[in-house]
Amino acid sequence: MKVGFYGHVRQYENIKSEIDANIQNVLMSGKYVMGPMLAKFEKELAEYMGTKHAIGVGNGTDAIWLTLMALGIGKGDEVITHANTFFATAEAAWIAGCKVVLVDCDPKTKNLDPALVEAAITPKTKAIIPVHLYGQCADMLAIKAIADKHNLVVIEDNAQGIDGYGKGFKQGELSDAVSISFIIQKNLGCFGDGGAVVTNNEEIDRQIRILRNHGSKKRSWHSPGFNSRLDDLQAGVLSAKLKHITAWTDQRIAIADRYSAGLKDAKALDLPYTTPGFRHVFHLYVVETKDASKRNDLLKFLNDAGIDAKCHYDIAIHQQDGYPWDVDVEIRGSLENAEKNAASCVSLPMFPELTTEEVDYVIAKTLEWDKANG
Ligand SMILES: *Cc1c(COP(=O)(O)O)cnc(C)c1O
Repeated sequence: MKVGFYGHVRQYENIKSEIDANIQNVLMSGKYVMGPMLAKFEKELAEYMGTKHAIGVGNGTDAIWLTLMALGIGKGDEVITHANTFFATAEAAWIAGCKVVLVDCDPKTKNLDPALVEAAITPKTKAIIPVHLYGQCADMLAIKAIADKHNLVVIEDNAQGIDGYGKGFKQGELSDAVSISFIIQKNLGCFGDGGAVVTNNEEIDRQIRILRNHGSKKRSWHSPGFNSRLDDLQAGVLSAKLKHITAWTDQRIAIADRYSAGLKDAKALDLPYTTPGFRHVFHLYVVETKDASKRNDLLKFLNDAGIDAKCHYDIAIHQQDGYPWDVDVEIRGSLENAEKNAASCVSLPMFPELTTEEVDYVIAKTLEWDKANG
């Protein structure tokens, strides 16, 4: 049996008529950039997120640095995030001109450890970027308390966590802005690249609308800005898909539950941890080999069995090739949890359209490996 890592075509086939109708609508409108479909999707996204504003931008990375720039955060300023996120979180802060301060993650959730954030704050610190890694919200209550105490901006990197929430909080409620990525492999994916910023902050909304469109405040009047727009075809795809996101998340959670029940007696593996009361949307289902030196063996075993397992992320930000680069980065404290995560992680196939047979095959093969290695 072959089990893929993504189900893009299956998903398209399931709602083809809805997506095709929106694409046709855009094609026949003749308005492909900054047109009515983008405005419609922005309104729908803001309503869905429960925020005042949603601004479509080119991708999830731009969503982060545009927010930093909109708030005047850049050269000389420090931004704190964790070392085991996808590279783009740090990259976005560098694009804005900031120094990236890396701290360790919590060993259970793999998310930003609030105590380490507080210890890393200096007078230059301007922002914290918690990532809802793998689809589980960061500890936003603690992060918000620290941000308030030290007067810091919080941007939620929600490239992986759309449709999730934490115990007692929603996304966007305890931060200045939320960045979202719509690249196809994310939980709400368009047919290419896309992103958005959602916020309750008028100024962020106003500034990003100007910045994303060549600094244009009105026709022919420009201040230096960028070209980072979500085009109307992608907005049409996303508008159709947004109606299904909650059902898709429920399917992801059901698959995660099946994996966790099936693998609960595995001796050589640690399974993903869900904080009680949180809606973990399982962008990724990541297991860790207890013995990091056996990770590559598990990955190869699954790949050889036709299962397209991967690693997220096997090289932490500070371990990337060429480090230290010509960018401003500083490690504060040990990054041992991030390094252990990088060395031992394996992502099992996870997408809503996986069949029960496929999930059970992945479980069976993983257990077979575990039995030989546990
Ligand atoms: C995907 C991702 C991004 C970047 O999104 P793009 O749309 O690819 O620019 C940023 N942060 C995290 C955590 C991601 O997973």
